[in-house]
Amino acid sequence: MTRPALTSSPATPPLIERPLTMTVHPPIPAAGPDAEAAAVLADALRRAADLPGVLMRRDVELGPAAQLTESRCTHVPIVHLGAELAAGPLAPLTGTLAHELAHQALGHLRTRPLVVWWACHQLTLMAGVLALALRSPWCLVLFAACVAARIIWARISRTQEYQADAYAVRLLDRTGLPGLDITTSTLWAGQHHDTWWYRTVGWMTGTHPTAAARVRHLHRGRQ
Ligand SMILES: [Zn+2]
Repeated sequence: MTRPALTSSPATPPLIERPLTMTVHPPIPAAGPDAEAAAVLADALRRAADLPGVLMRRDVELGPAAQLTESRCTHVPIVHLGAELAAGPLAPLTGTLAHELAHQALGHLRTRPLVVWWACHQLTLMAGVLALALRSPWCLVLFAACVAARIIWARISRTQEYQADAYAVRLLDRTGLPGLDITTSTLWAGQHHDTWWYRTVGWMTGTHPTAAARVRHLHRGRQ
């Protein structure tokens, strides 16, 4: 049996005039045992933190790190896990999850001074660039204000890191895990990210204290 040839009316313009192009994305990895373990851990920790829920996303660009964001509508915390971290040993994953959920439990994402000083930093930076373009001597004042705002903002952020470390220990203890040991080993595992420059001067404008400073702070008063 012969099929009728597919023809189009000459009056009907073709729907597609150019050849289709297609972008091929790498396949999304299926949830494996590491994802299941992370889900169980996250659920236990969010109960310990008295949080209504938690979402976890795997982000290949984060590598061995993690990041906390929040759903704008529901305020549910979203923990973005680097692929390396999610697929690696369980102890750093546990310590990192506890730390990120501690940030959420302490309300750090919505801390007003942090938001205000970040806005000051950005505004003085933009004003300074504009003043420089206009050859105004005010650019020096504005850049000095920009650096000052950055230092204050970074200091608030570093204080929050110390607070999250301490609260992560409590969350882990509540779930029956050795909180101090896990948090300490997680911090030491990341110490190679602290370059010589960051350990000596860079930390002053950085959002995170060095790993050594965090461990010292965590153990202070515990001996
Ligand atoms: Zn943190």
